[in-house]
Parts: sequence; C-alpha cells; structure tokens
Amino acid sequence: MRAEIICVGTELLLGDIINTNASWLARELATVGVSVYKHLVVGDNHNRLIVAIKNALEDNDVVICTGGLGPTQDDMTKEALAQACQLDMAQNPEALSWLEERFNRNGYRLTENNYRQALFPEGAIPLYNPNGSAPGCKLEYDNKVIYLLPGPPREMQPMFYEFIKPYLESKSDGVLRSVNMRIIGVGESSAEEMAKEIINKQSNPTIAPYAHFGELSFRITAKAEDEKKAYDLIKPVINDIEKIFGDNIYGFDDDTLEAVVIKELQNKRLTFAIAESCTGGLLSSYIVNVPGSSSVFKEGVITYSNESKIRRLGVNEETLKSHGAVSKEVAKEMAIGIAKTAKADIGIATTGIAGPGGGTATKPVGLVYTAIYYNNCVTVEEHQFNSSREGVRRRSALRLLDMLRRKLKGTN
Ligand code: ATP
Repeated sequence: MRAEIICVGTELLLGDIINTNASWLARELATVGVSVYKHLVVGDNHNRLIVAIKNALEDNDVVICTGGLGPTQDDMTKEALAQACQLDMAQNPEALSWLEERFNRNGYRLTENNYRQALFPEGAIPLYNPNGSAPGCKLEYDNKVIYLLPGPPREMQPMFYEFIKPYLESKSDGVLRSVNMRIIGVGESSAEEMAKEIINKQSNPTIAPYAHFGELSFRITAKAEDEKKAYDLIKPVINDIEKIFGDNIYGFDDDTLEAVVIKELQNKRLTFAIAESCTGGLLSSYIVNVPGSSSVFKEGVITYSNESKIRRLGVNEETLKSHGAVSKEVAKEMAIGIAKTAKADIGIATTGIAGPGGGTATKPVGLVYTAIYYNNCVTVEEHQFNSSREGVRRRSALRLLDMLRRKLKGTN
C-alpha cells in the first residue's frame, strides 16, 4: 500500500510550528508496512487543498490529512474533501448528538460555528475525538481510503491508534517492526566501521545507524508475517550488535540515559547529588524529567562562581587559586563537596569552558572535567569537546551521566 500524508495549516507553511505530525505518522505507517511516498503541507487555502486531496487520492491507496477540522472558517479540510470527490456535505445526526453531549457535559452550548463540526462529506464515517471537540472522519472513495484527523498531536495520535492502525494492519500482507539500540561512548564513524560487516550483509532485517548529538543508535527493522516472526528475525542482529558494542549499549527504544541511570540507582538503593558549573543546571533538569527520580536525587546546585564553589561545596580557595576553576582538582573537590553537604552516597560534578569566549592556549574552549565521588574514591575525566556552547553543555552532561552509568555497572 502506498500512502501520502497531507498536513494542513498556514502556521506550518510559515514555519511557526514544526510538522511533527508528518514524521510521527510516517514512522507509524512504516510499522504496519505502508510505504509513504509523499509528505505535503498546504496552507488554509480552499482551492489548493482541493487540488492536493485530488492528486493524493489519484496517486495513493491511503491518504491521511491532519489539521483544519476546527469550527472556524479557516478550518476547511472536510469541505475540500467533499469538493475533491464531488460529494455534498451532510449533517451527521450521530455526530451532532456527540458534540451536544460533549458540550453539555462541559457546561457549554454549541455555537453556530460548532454545528459545522457535525457536517461531513456524504458517505464519510465520523471518527470521534476523545481529547478534543473536532471529530475526524474516514471516507472510502474509488477503492482508496482517506482519513481526516485533527491537528493537535495529543488528539491526532490516539485517534490514529484507535481507528487507522487496526484497519491498515488488517489490509497489510505483513508487519514491519523496529528495535532501536542506543549507544554512547563511540564516535559515529568508528561505530559504522565496527559494525561494517553486519551492515554490509543486511537485507531483512535492515540496519540503519543514526547519530544524535553525542550518542547514536542502530535501528533494526524486520518485515515478516506477524510480530513474533519479525522479532525472531531481529533477535540475532541484536546479539551481533551486543557482541560488537558491549557496555557502550545503554538501552533500547525509548530508553534515555538519565532514566537508565536513575533505575540503576534505585535498584542499588543509592542517592546522589549534582554540582554543576558549565552545564548550568542542564544535568539536573535531565534528571528531574525522569518520573520517580526524587527517590534517588537529593540535590542539584549550580555553583557558577568561585565564591559559590567555596561557600556551597567547601572547595579550597587555594585549589582554585593554584589550579583555576576549570581543573581536575576543582572538579574533584566539587564532587566530594556536594556528596558530603547533600548527605548523598554519590556526588557528581562538572566544570568547564563552554565558550565561545573564555578559552586560553592551555585551557581552550570545550575543555571540561567531569567527576564522580563514590565509595570514598573520586574518578575525574578530562574532555575536549569541539562544539557550540550548547553542544559543550549537552555533551558534558551526557558524559557525566555515562560515567555514572559505567561506575554503577562496575565497568569504570
Ligand atoms: P482544533 O479544532 O483542535 O484546533 P484542527 O484540526 O482545526 O483542531 P489546527 O487548527 O489545524 O487543528 O491546528 C491546531 C494546533 O495543532 C496547531 O496550532 C498546532 O499546535 C497543532 N498542529 C496542527 N498541525 C500540526 C502538525 N502537522 N504538526 C504538529 N502540530 C500540529
């Protein structure tokens, strides 16, 4: 089956919002074996929308449109679909009751505009929206099928799972399943080199490497009759990649480094605290993004100035004077200081020069020290990150998290 995704909205065309619906839908369609041939963005323009829908229905088996289902005049996707297929618009009594019931429940009355939301192209089946007031619809036309879904992702995504995915799975001759293996601590080109042999012999499953800012992943995708057979094809490839990358693999699919670290701390019943300088709270903010992190995370402080490093962490004034704030010695004292003052089992710290200014010949921009104090022992690493200010901060935070992950696993 071939498919096209049309996203409607002038905000998208102007670049005011990012078209996350297209990438999300494309990934989901791939998992049910549907090939996406085109993504299209159309502004809130009636005639252009009609042409877009007509062309998409000519060229594809499945068309999914998002956006433009609201009650206002610039929401015109349903009308454009009706015109593209030369159908009249008709009020759907069931959709009207659904809208009335929904509005009454929330203590509102339907306005004239809202009645438009109960109008659909003749023959279209309304698809009710559990998280919003704009119903979508499905229309089978000339052996093709077109779905209209609302624009907001939190409304669109559950409707895709409820109404579209099961239908497409029932029509598809197989399923595509993917597993992402997440890797850190190996550069992109070395990783490709290390995995060259298995990448070269790939067919089904396919193996695709992706690099994202300081980490990388391999996506293994298999096509098979059913889910179990797809995973049976994927498993041996996971084993091969594990043999090559070992401890550099920190997780799978949606795992994040911070969530993996928090889980390990919870398993070991250890608490930790963070002292940040150049990362300015970034690392603590990754940590608090993980639900349940409060059970292990005691405190995070940003000790940006020398005075704060002395007062808050007990860093020795002499150490600062003789080695400078960006030094192995200060990183070490910061990690010890935060562990002791926060009464945590583990103290971790970063200090570095994020740039773009502030570098010298001996201490260039991108020089960062990361330190961990655990079990009466301090480990410090020196890094040279060649990146933007934001990049240096992100890489420092990731590196420190990875150091902690390895320390907890006993491999560092
Ligand atoms: P509603 O009646 O809930 O507004 P709608 O179907 O009319 O639904 P739009 O008005 O087109 O949707 O878009 C509403 C909001 O949904 C946008 O402001 C934007 O935040 C989000 N949105 C719309 N299209 C996309 C898209 N393709 N990708 C990501 N977000 C989107």
